[in-house]
Amino acid sequence: MAGLEEKQLLLIPGPTPVPQSVLRACSRPMINHRGPEYIKMQNELTSGLKEIFQTQGDVLLLTCSGTGGMEAAIVNTLSPGDKVLACVIGSFGQRFVKIARAYGADVEVMEFTWGEAVDPEKLRSRLAQDSRKEIKAVLVQHNETSTGVYNDLKTIGPIVRAHGALSLVDSVSGLIALDCQTDNWQLDVVIAASQKAFMLPPGLAFVSMNERAWESYKKAKMPRFYFDLMEAKTFAEKGQNPFTPALPQIYGLQESLRLLRQEGLQNVFARHQRLADATRAGVKALGLTLFAKDLCASNCITAITAPKELGPDKIRKLLLQKYGLVLAGGQSHLKDSVFRIGHLGYVSDTDILGCMAALGAGLKELGMKVDPGAGVAAAIFAFEKAS
Ligand code: PLP
Repeated sequence: MAGLEEKQLLLIPGPTPVPQSVLRACSRPMINHRGPEYIKMQNELTSGLKEIFQTQGDVLLLTCSGTGGMEAAIVNTLSPGDKVLACVIGSFGQRFVKIARAYGADVEVMEFTWGEAVDPEKLRSRLAQDSRKEIKAVLVQHNETSTGVYNDLKTIGPIVRAHGALSLVDSVSGLIALDCQTDNWQLDVVIAASQKAFMLPPGLAFVSMNERAWESYKKAKMPRFYFDLMEAKTFAEKGQNPFTPALPQIYGLQESLRLLRQEGLQNVFARHQRLADATRAGVKALGLTLFAKDLCASNCITAITAPKELGPDKIRKLLLQKYGLVLAGGQSHLKDSVFRIGHLGYVSDTDILGCMAALGAGLKELGMKVDPGAGVAAAIFAFEKAS
C-alpha cells in the first residue's frame, strides 16, 4: 500500500520513538534564549533533571549527543598523563578509552568478557593494588548498549569512592530505563543523552557533577572550550546556556519531563523491566540465544546471537523490508553475529508483541524450524506475570 513503506516500528537503542506531545512541543516557535521565558524554562528543567539523576549536585545541559557528554566528563576532570582505569565490557567502553587517550590520559583497560558485567571484586582488588593512588578516575558504562549488559553501579560506586578515584559513568543508554541513584551510589559524574529513554530526539546530553568532580575540575588541565562545564554551570546559575541551546529539544524535554513525572520514576523503571522480561521470554521461545548473561541482562536492550546459518543482516533486512520492523545490528566484532532489540523509551507492550510476531514470521520465512507464534505467546505470558 502506498505510504505504508514509511510506517516503521523503530526498536533500536536510540534514536527511540518520540511521543506525539513531545514532537508537538519540539515544533513550538523559537524564543530568545536570553529572555525571561527561556530562563524560567531552563531553571525548571535543571531541577527536573536533578530529580531524575537523583542528585543534589549540578546537572548541566549540553547541546551535543552522548559522546559529547563523555568527552566533557573527561576533559573537565583530568589532565594529560593522568592514570585512568577503564572498565570495558563492550564497544561503548572502548569509546570511553579512545576519548580519554585522545586527550592524553594514561589509560589502563580492564576488559571483561563481552556479554558479562564488570566483576566488582576484580575492580576492588585492582584498585587495592594502587596503594600510591595513581589512578585518578574509573570509567564505566551503566548500560553497555553493544552487548545489552548493565553494570552494578550500586556496588561499583562505593568501591571506587573507597579508593578515592573519581567515577565517570556513561549512563547514556541507562538513564532512566535503569535506576541511577547518583548520590546514594557515590557516582561523581554521570552522563545521559536525550535520544534514549528520555523519549526525545537526539541533540542533548546531560552531565551531573558533584563537589568531588568540581574539585578535580580545579586541577584538570585537559584542553576544553565548548565543553567547559564551569562555563555551563556559571550560565546555568542565570538559567542560561553559554551557547545557543537546541530549543526544539529543550521544549521537548519540558514535555518529556512532564510525562515522566506524571508516570513516576519507579514506574518508569518497572515499565522497562516488564518490556525487557517480555522481550527476552519471546526471543528465547523462538529458539534464539540471548547474548547477555541472564544476571546482567539490561532493561534497555536485548542482544541476540543470530543463528549461524542466517546471520544478523539477513534477518534484519527481511524484517525491515517485509514488516517495517527496524532492529539494530551488532557492533565491533559482534557485527556479523549479533542483532539487537531496543526496548527503551516510548515503547509499548503492543510494540513488543508486534516485534515478536514479525520476528517469528521472519525466521520461519528464512527457513528456520520454528513456531512463528511462540515469541508472541511467551511475551503475553510474561506481561501477564508482571501485572
Ligand atoms: N554510550 C552509550 C552506552 C551509548 O549507547 C551511546 C549511543 O548509543 C553512546 C555512548 C554515544 O552516544 P551518541 O551516539 O549520542 O554520541
